[in-house]
Amino acid sequence: MPFAELFGNRRIKRVLTSYLRNRTIPPAMLFSGAGSVNLKGFALGLAKALNCLKMEHDFCGECAHCLDIDREMFPDVRLLRPDGQQYKKEQVDFIVEDQLRRPLKGDRKVYILESAQMLSESSANAFLKALEEPSETTIFILLTPSLAGILPTIQSRCQVLRFAPPAPEEIRKYLLGQGMQEEKAALLSRLSQSQRLDLIHGNYDELLAARGAVLDVLGRLLRHDGEGEVLVKLNELNRRRDAFITYFRELVNLISQFLRDIMVLKAGGDASLLFNIDFREELMVLSQYSGEEKLLFLIRRMETLLRDVQRNLNAKVLTQEFIRSFSDPETGVG
Ligand SMILES: [Zn+2]
Repeated sequence: MPFAELFGNRRIKRVLTSYLRNRTIPPAMLFSGAGSVNLKGFALGLAKALNCLKMEHDFCGECAHCLDIDREMFPDVRLLRPDGQQYKKEQVDFIVEDQLRRPLKGDRKVYILESAQMLSESSANAFLKALEEPSETTIFILLTPSLAGILPTIQSRCQVLRFAPPAPEEIRKYLLGQGMQEEKAALLSRLSQSQRLDLIHGNYDELLAARGAVLDVLGRLLRHDGEGEVLVKLNELNRRRDAFITYFRELVNLISQFLRDIMVLKAGGDASLLFNIDFREELMVLSQYSGEEKLLFLIRRMETLLRDVQRNLNAKVLTQEFIRSFSDPETGVG
C-alpha cells in the first residue's frame, strides 16, 4: 500500500490508483505544485507501481524492481534533471531516441523530467513529437513547481495533475511524527502559510538560520544604520547572477514576511498572528522605526521587486531599487 504512505495529496493518490486499476495511464503527464508537495515521490511511485514485481495497482517498495528504481539503477526508469541552467538539446535527443526501444527489465519505460520549466524552447520543440506519439510502453512525467513556465504546446499534450500544498496543520503533524519538537514544528508550519516552502524535503534548519540574517539586514535598513554593508554584500553577489537571484528572492520574500509581522504588531494585533513568532521582541523594537504608511509602501515595493526578479531585471537595477525603497524621502517617515 505504499501510495498511501506518501505525504499529502489524497486526491492525486486516488487519480493515480484509478489510472492503474483501469489501465488508462496517460502516456504524458505534467505534475505541477510548489512547496511541500512531493512531485518526485509520486512520479517514482507511479514508475514503481508500473514495474513492481509484487503488486499490480500499487508498489511494494521492497521488491528488486522497486528498490532499483529508488536507487536510480533500474534501466527502464530514468530520472532526468537539467544539465546546468537548462535541459540540453542532447538530453532531449537521447530521450526521444531511447523511448523507442523496448523495456529491458520491466513492463514500462518511464521518463521523469524534474524542473521541466527548464526545457528551453528548442529542446521543448524537439520533445513534442515524442510526447505526442510515445511508443506503446513509454510514459513521460514532467515535474514543475508552476505551470507558468511550461510552454502551451507541451501543456496541451500532457495530462495535467495539480498538486495542492498541504495545510499547516498537516505539516505540523508530519513534522511531529518525524520526531521534531513541538515548538519548532509549530513555527515551521506557520511559516509554510506565507511561503511556498518545501518543509517535507527541504532543509528547514537553513531556512531558520536565514531568517535571522535577513532580520539583521531589515534592521539596518529601517534604522538607517549599516545600509552600506548591505549594499556591499548585494554588489558582491551581483557578479554571479544565479547566486544573486536565489539570495535576492529569499531576501525579499522574508523581508515581506517580517514587514507584515511588524504591521500586525503596530496595529496592536495579538502575537499569535505573527508568522515569525520567535522574533517577536526584535520585531517589536523595529516597529518603532517606521509608520504604518511607510510599512505598507515597503510591502508593496517588495511585491514589485519579486515581479521584477521574475521579469529578469538586471541585478544592479534590482539592488538599487531595493536599497532606494528604504531610503526614499517621498514616503514620509522613512
Ligand atoms: Zn515492488
